Amino acid sequence: MFEVQNQPPPLEPYNLLTSDTVLREALLRERAEWAESQLAALGATLGKPETVQLGFDANKYAPTLRTFDRYGYRLDEVDFHPAWHELMGIALKAGLHSSPWASPQPGAHVARAAGTYMLGQIESGVYCPLAMTYGSVPTLRREPAIAAEWLPRIFARDYDRRFKPARDKISALIGMALTENQGGSDLRTNSTRAEPASDGSFRLHGHKWFMSAPMCDAFLVLAQAAKGLSCFLMPRWTPDATRNAIRILRLKDKLGNRSNASSEVEFDGAYAQLIGEEGRGIPTVIEMGNYTRLDCAIGSSALMRQAVAQAIHHARHRTAFQKRLIDQPLMSNVLADLALESEAATVLTMRLARAYDESDETSAVFRRVLTPAAKFWICKRAPFATYEAMEVLGGSGYIEESIMPRLYREAPVNSIWEGAGNIMCLDVLRAIERTPNAGDVLRHELADAGDARLKAFAERLQQRLRAADRNDESQARALVRELVLALQAALLAKHSPPAVADAFCASRLNGEGGGAFGTLPRGLDLRAIAERAAPLN
Ligand SMILES: Cc1cc2nc3c(=O)[nH]c(=O)nc-3n(C[C@H](O)[C@H](O)[C@H](O)COP(=O)(O)OP(=O)(O)OC[C@H]3O[C@@H](n4cnc5c(N)ncnc54)[C@H](O)[C@@H]3O)c2cc1C
Repeated sequence: MFEVQNQPPPLEPYNLLTSDTVLREALLRERAEWAESQLAALGATLGKPETVQLGFDANKYAPTLRTFDRYGYRLDEVDFHPAWHELMGIALKAGLHSSPWASPQPGAHVARAAGTYMLGQIESGVYCPLAMTYGSVPTLRREPAIAAEWLPRIFARDYDRRFKPARDKISALIGMALTENQGGSDLRTNSTRAEPASDGSFRLHGHKWFMSAPMCDAFLVLAQAAKGLSCFLMPRWTPDATRNAIRILRLKDKLGNRSNASSEVEFDGAYAQLIGEEGRGIPTVIEMGNYTRLDCAIGSSALMRQAVAQAIHHARHRTAFQKRLIDQPLMSNVLADLALESEAATVLTMRLARAYDESDETSAVFRRVLTPAAKFWICKRAPFATYEAMEVLGGSGYIEESIMPRLYREAPVNSIWEGAGNIMCLDVLRAIERTPNAGDVLRHELADAGDARLKAFAERLQQRLRAADRNDESQARALVRELVLALQAALLAKHSPPAVADAFCASRLNGEGGGAFGTLPRGLDLRAIAERAAPLN
């Protein structure tokens, strides 16, 4: 029998807040210090071996569709493994689906961002219905009667898994159904029809190519009404307590995000209520999109953080060629480079979340311009970072018993849904054009750069923003990447140790971005950067 040797202990139990210096600093800086103890309790729960196992189980035992009962009646129900329900219970108890709306206070969106950032590290699938529910609240508030009916249940913190009319439940969750087979980015091609009924409600006829978390209690749906594309709330049950005519055709067989169900659906005269003005469906539902896009940036930051934490933990315990991996100079470069990417993503995401707590001009620019920008770049970086972190674990990183394959498979989805990369970059161009004083605010954020490299980079960026470049769609990705890099560098220069800011400027502002990790130039304090990211309780 061989003897197990030179293997690291599992990174558990550990506290996902207290072991994360960058997150803790951000929490205090972005005005959510009041939430520290409750988030530390959540961090401890999430880092328990039992909770970590729930993430594995929820993904191993994927949801299944039950279309009919044994007599042939339609059910259109999805069964989840108990682990999914337990994770949802933890998330709702922590208020991750609605706390900033239920208990508004300074730092509320930041606190919730920190909570979802920790949850997303242990299991990302449950994030989807939480994000959609969180994002739905401002849209639902456009209809006071509907808001009065739904919000108390959306604000409730006791997860209710029962498939029943929402009025008979303790809590409720909201999904959304926009994308159709013939077009997702171009929502104007939506063909689902909405016909008015005599009672003032509507009946929807058509299909949706993607509708995730179909066991939510209601969905925001786009459909064509007499005055054009409009937004509707479509519950799973009608007011007379019968199953709404929402036919779940099949569940998607996805690359990752396996614990979560994503369905294709048909509406056969489904009951729905109009939200907002008829014909103004896209602006009505896009409000929700801002929040869910913020959540994509948080979700990808979370994946990177977990990948980096696992990689550094492994390298601190595994020895090769007579040295711990973390002490090997080249591995130290890889780990520091990964840590930089993770810290930059986290710092930007948490700053962005604060913009949702505040209402000044700077926050308006952050929300409108930097939400799609951060979603684009952070989500683009996550697959590279999770892949590189996987390699730090060597062969073991490729094996399903470690969390690394799950992080890697999960990583691309945040870039695709809620508007894919190109759509985000084109939206940034539009937002810069249309948001009052966007240029001035961005200039101000990048002023006092201190670092000469950042100063030069920011000046070039300003020129590009001023020039015709902005109208050249072919250059949108390059422009948005530079915008995000400049802002990340400025935030790191202000808030992180000099070693981190120095390495970020040296490696990300030199036009070589996007290559392999582990290519940081000589003369940087690699060890300090990696140690800062080590998950130490
Ligand atoms: C796992 C998963 C779950 C999902 N869940 C939901 C859900 O719950 N509800 C929902 O409504 N949708 C959902 N979606 C759908 C998702 O939002 C869409 O797939 C996405 O918005 C892209 O739309 P599309 O698939 O129609 O691609 P298309 O619109 O055909 O786009 C294809 C590619 O072309 C690019 N592109 C499009 N227009 C332009 C342009 N003008 N210039 C340059 N490039 C362009 C896009 O960036 C993209 O890369 C889900 C998707 C996935 C993968």
